Amino acid sequence: MPHAHILLFLDKESQFDTPQKIDEIISAEIPDPADDPELYDIVTKFMIHRANTMSSCMKDYSPGLRCSKHFPRAFMDCTVIDDNSYPSYCRRPERFTATIRNPMDKKESLTVGNEWVVPYSPYLSKRYKAHINF
Ligand SMILES: [Zn+2]
Repeated sequence: MPHAHILLFLDKESQFDTPQKIDEIISAEIPDPADDPELYDIVTKFMIHRANTMSSCMKDYSPGLRCSKHFPRAFMDCTVIDDNSYPSYCRRPERFTATIRNPMDKKESLTVGNEWVVPYSPYLSKRYKAHINF
């Protein structure tokens, strides 16, 4: 599948260096389907991390297989920036959910929440209708 990895450096004045600025451009939550059904469809189609035991993200960290991309992610009440400037995005529990095909058993469906959302830009997701993660 064609894809690109892009790293951008921004001027100090243009940086998204506060939780508030980050929340304006990046989300790690399933959107409200009543508020924005188009974005809900895009996020639940492209931005839910799906893995089974055969997925390339699954690594054997003794004593067992775990997702190397750290899914499912921990819930966060708000976006936090750590001492290395690395953000942990707002990922609230008890919000909206998505029903997806179970990656472990394709015959079953599975209800997932924000712990499985790959961080995305609502603007870019709607513009390109593709998997674009942050
Ligand atoms: Zn994974």
